[in-house]
Amino acid sequence: MQDNSAELAEASYIFDKRLECPCCGKLFTSKVVKTGKARFLGSDMDLRPRYSGIDTVKYDVYMCTKCGYAAVAREFPNLNAKQKEAVKEEISSKFHGVVEGDKIYTYDDAIVRYKMALLVAIKKPSKVSECAFLCLKLAWLHRSVQETLLADKELDSLSPEVKRTVENSNIEEKTYLREAYEGFTDALSKEYPPICGMDETTVNYLMSVLAYKNNDYESASKYGYSVLSSRTASAKVKDKERDLMDMLKSDKI
Ligand SMILES: [Zn+2]
Repeated sequence: MQDNSAELAEASYIFDKRLECPCCGKLFTSKVVKTGKARFLGSDMDLRPRYSGIDTVKYDVYMCTKCGYAAVAREFPNLNAKQKEAVKEEISSKFHGVVEGDKIYTYDDAIVRYKMALLVAIKKPSKVSECAFLCLKLAWLHRSVQETLLADKELDSLSPEVKRTVENSNIEEKTYLREAYEGFTDALSKEYPPICGMDETTVNYLMSVLAYKNNDYESASKYGYSVLSSRTASAKVKDKERDLMDMLKSDKI
């Protein structure tokens, strides 16, 4: 998917981190992004961050190569005795181990790691919001696959095989965006912000975007007005929300 020079450049942003698995207790390595090296370029409407030279999203999941326990870095140490038993029984007993490669994570590698983290989160079980956030990030990865393959080219100019991959990734992105929206909707009936490290305004903003992307315009407006009427929301997030509300209006016409 990427040529060698892009791969070499990406490799300069990461390093192998030694970690102790909270599930099996063994040591393993995961590739992680060096702090402060990649330049932040901005975010997509649904908060997907973009950096120069590397897609940092690919490296957010730690996965034990010995037992299959996987989670985003923030959640990785959080495993109580009952959850440990559940993961051992449902995941580790069927996991045959993998070898950590010596280069970068490809999108295929990253998608496998996130799917593993999602499976672990479901079996643990983690909070509903954690599962929803993993779905959102899987949608981001599938968007990146499309962007990498398209790279300013027209879809019809691609080979049939590449075109099919782009189309399948587009379907996967939409499916995960729907699951993220449904998951966060469910989470909001049970959890209070901060949710997945996001404050109330950020959650409402994200929900307005996810509702919009899932054609639920009524909820998109409802969450949007919560952001615009908030006394604590920053001017920046209100500006982003106004842009979304403008898109909503023009879509409705
Ligand atoms: Zn382990």
